[in-house]
Amino acid sequence: MNKQDFKNIWLILRNLAMNYKKVLVSMFLMSVSIGVRPYVAVVLTGILIDAVYEGASFEILLRYALYGVGITSVFMLIETVTEKIFNQHLEYMFEIQNRPLNEKSMEMDYEYLEDAKVHDSRQRLNSAYTRFGIQGSALSHISKITTSISSCVTALIIVIPMFFRKDAADYGWIGSPVLSIVFFALMGFFVWVNYKVLVYYNTKSNEIRKEQAPWENRKKFYMDLLASAEPQKDLRIYGQKALFQKQAEKIVSKEKAVGRRSAFCMMKSGLVSQAIVAILGLLVYGFAGLRGYVGMITIGNVVTYASSISKVSDSIYMFAHRLGWLKGVANYAVHYVDFMALQQRKHEGTIPMEKRRDNKFTVEFENVSFQYPGSNTYVIKDLNLSFVIGEKMAIVGKNGSGKTTFIKLLCRLYDVTEGCIKVNGIDIRKYDYKEYCDLFAVVFQDFCMFDFPVGENMACSTQVDEAKAMDALERAGLGDRMKTLPEGLQTYVGKGFDENGVNFSGGEKQKMAIARAIYKDAPFVIMDEPTAALDPEAECEVFAGFDKMVGKKTAIYISHRLASCRFCEDILVFDKGQVVQRGSHEKLEQEEGLYRELWNAQAQYYA
Ligand code: ADP
Repeated sequence: MNKQDFKNIWLILRNLAMNYKKVLVSMFLMSVSIGVRPYVAVVLTGILIDAVYEGASFEILLRYALYGVGITSVFMLIETVTEKIFNQHLEYMFEIQNRPLNEKSMEMDYEYLEDAKVHDSRQRLNSAYTRFGIQGSALSHISKITTSISSCVTALIIVIPMFFRKDAADYGWIGSPVLSIVFFALMGFFVWVNYKVLVYYNTKSNEIRKEQAPWENRKKFYMDLLASAEPQKDLRIYGQKALFQKQAEKIVSKEKAVGRRSAFCMMKSGLVSQAIVAILGLLVYGFAGLRGYVGMITIGNVVTYASSISKVSDSIYMFAHRLGWLKGVANYAVHYVDFMALQQRKHEGTIPMEKRRDNKFTVEFENVSFQYPGSNTYVIKDLNLSFVIGEKMAIVGKNGSGKTTFIKLLCRLYDVTEGCIKVNGIDIRKYDYKEYCDLFAVVFQDFCMFDFPVGENMACSTQVDEAKAMDALERAGLGDRMKTLPEGLQTYVGKGFDENGVNFSGGEKQKMAIARAIYKDAPFVIMDEPTAALDPEAECEVFAGFDKMVGKKTAIYISHRLASCRFCEDILVFDKGQVVQRGSHEKLEQEEGLYRELWNAQAQYYA
């Protein structure tokens, strides 16, 4: 474990300490008690042996025994209470870990979510230590480390009198403090060697296991893939079963090989460590025995000291192991810390959005250029355009010409690289982001409907205005379908949350996404290829009803099917991130240019 590992572990626990102090306090008390308690029996055994040897009465022996039982009971009581508190929290540590991560995911700049590295970090945190989370796993290792440290400290306190005694001179060289120091140094040396050996093999074993990391991701990929129905269609049609099995076998045999090498490594560690512990035992018994032999310490003391010191070896073993495992947790903690430390790059404006009853908004793109983060290609280049609310605008162009990116910029999912976008004359970065978002209802190509009831999906809330939801669904062309649902708006979308849920078709879900946009009743309605999953009849329905759907709002309609957009008065033709033509279908059709080229190419298919 290096300094950075400790720092990362400290950072993940600091978050926990702020909200769950009880867990840390109970973990600490529990661990210390577990470390110290065994010594009550060790010390008591020594005392009883001496008492018996000196011919103590039965009452005295009984009193000692009762003291022992009493003290042990106190420790056990502490352990029972603290263990209960600790384990209770441990059970939902994964959820405790995920809560701030989820909040961060929902609040962070959108650009991070499309960043492969950030995505990978989040995935790793999701799949690692899924029972107790990384915080819970760190805590359980730290708990064992605390136990081993308190055990060593207790042992040291017990054995110190054996090393340094005022009457040492009476026992010749056997009682000499020099011998104590030599013994102490030898013991320290062997304990240190033992620790080093364990750490060495642990690190090696961790490194071997690390080779497995890329395979773990693949395994998760296969498991997720096979658990969902979607990919099974292709799998069956293309007879990919054998391919999948081969790939899965590859992973299993890799895992087996890694597991074998790691187990062999740990076996070597165990052998060397046990040999060192045996030497330590010899030393301790020899030394204590010698001092017992000359009468410097009692027989009871010999037993107490020797048992204490052999417990130290066990503790060192536990300490080194758990430290190695903690290092494994630290490898994941770094993802947690980095993820939580991602800084908002987007400028957070404060100007409130003007709430206009007449919905009069003007939008201007002024010399806007944009590159995706980490790329040096301009996806939008020097774009200048303006439009006014109430207008219907269509954007057409080939795939990859920047249509969706234009929408992402308008909705501030990304900020422009150069130039600026203004709404009502003010740079959109200056507006309060939440209020600015309220302006838009967007149906993205890859929209998401959740496995919640239809009504909640419409309202994006548990408070559903049923009449409004039904009206939106009707306008989006789902009126008849809704009548067939026995639970109406309470019907669950998909079967993820409710086995009586309905698996709606792609086209139906697309209509639902349109209905959700209508329900939001925002001044701008943007539809990015909203008819891709619709059949021609349904597509016609959407177009015919489009004006009715959006009313007097500004509507931006993106499509690569030119026929869909030809009824729009204002058509923008995108090419390589620029608007190369603008006008009505009739105008553009007359002009020499991309529009006519695309129109003619597509007309063949409609003819
Ligand atoms: P359209 O909607 O016209 O099909 P897009 O706006 O989706 O086009 O994409 C324009 C270009 O930007 C494409 O070349 C695409 O590969 C690139 N692009 C889209 N999204 C990203 C992204 N998240 N990171 C990097 N490049 C992207």
